[in-house]
Amino acid sequence: MEISEIQVDGYEKVLRCRDADSGLHAIIAVHDTTLGPALGGMRMWPYASEDEALFDVLRLSRGMTFKSAVAETGLGGGKSVIIGDPKTQKSEKLFLAMGRFVDSLDGKYITAEDMNIGIPDLDIVKRETRWVTGLSRESGSSGNPSPYTARGCLQGMRAVLEVVHGTDSFDGRRVVLQGVGAVGGGLAVLLKEAGAEVYICDINVDRVRELSKEYGFKVVTEEEQFDVECDIYAPCARGAGINDETIPRLRCKAIAGSANNQLLEPRHADDLRELGILYAPDYVINAGGIINVSVELLPGGYDEAEALRRIDRIYDNLKLLFEISERENLSTRAASQRLAEQRIAEARSR
Ligand code: NAD
Repeated sequence: MEISEIQVDGYEKVLRCRDADSGLHAIIAVHDTTLGPALGGMRMWPYASEDEALFDVLRLSRGMTFKSAVAETGLGGGKSVIIGDPKTQKSEKLFLAMGRFVDSLDGKYITAEDMNIGIPDLDIVKRETRWVTGLSRESGSSGNPSPYTARGCLQGMRAVLEVVHGTDSFDGRRVVLQGVGAVGGGLAVLLKEAGAEVYICDINVDRVRELSKEYGFKVVTEEEQFDVECDIYAPCARGAGINDETIPRLRCKAIAGSANNQLLEPRHADDLRELGILYAPDYVINAGGIINVSVELLPGGYDEAEALRRIDRIYDNLKLLFEISERENLSTRAASQRLAEQRIAEARSR
């Protein structure tokens, strides 16, 4: 196994691994460990080149630093990518080699699930390194993060409603959910229980049928979702849905959902601000999963009650950054960036 360092300005450590025996070609980026060890998922993707993989892992690891800083997980930011086709190139040997690669950082980088990497893959990685989180509850780990992400989103929506309506009550508030998978489906149920009027939209028609039958959600098509007048539009499917085409169509007072990278470009945060649409920055409101995972790393190990207490602080974090946004005349996205930078700078100066 050959591990070599790639020098990148602004990053603590970026390592490349090539292993002829298993075919592993991977990169781990540790962006910043000021606030704690760098936690971030492991992704497998058929990148066209190492440069493309490097671009992705740098961008994602930096994002994790900011996400953890705002969520106060006591962690830094990192990420790993395996270059390869997840459909044809997964093997036991590959994940054992990846485990040794993760282990070589001696806990400076801690891994978890990400795109195309599941629990069975991480179970193999774990045989070579203890620096793996997010495994099953039975194994003493924190388990499936989705219900916790959904809970965090609900808390974030409370903060949004308070700013928009002066009260955090969901009674009669209308929420349109784009995507009702692992997170969106759970969130829809929580919203209904809280008294909201829930509209759902998903390309998986069977899922929509099932959920609406069971819970009485109203259903909207992909076309109609933007035209529904509502309090909150909640992207819970994929990224980049908020863009030049969709923004003029939105008839919501706020955007708050679990999807990563909801804005196609950072400037769209300014567009939303100008239109008076309150945007809950995605990486702040969807931090429930990582907060849940971070509790595994506390001295006493995973404790669900503690995880829930910490997840509920998403409400306070959003309130705080909405205040910063108002006071400093910044988009909420820029305000969250500022909050993260402040928290890192404070820790550095201690
Ligand atoms: P999922 O795959 O379980 O659900 C996504 C759902 O969106 C699916 O039901 C899919 O059919 C639907 N969908 C896809 N494209 C759509 C479209 N164009 N219009 C409508 N519906 C569409 O994924 P998930 O785990 O629920 O995650 C949802 C989003 O939240 C993702 O962006 C994910 O990165 C993000 N996220 C998830 C977690 C977590 O804990 N699972 C944590 C942080 C962020």
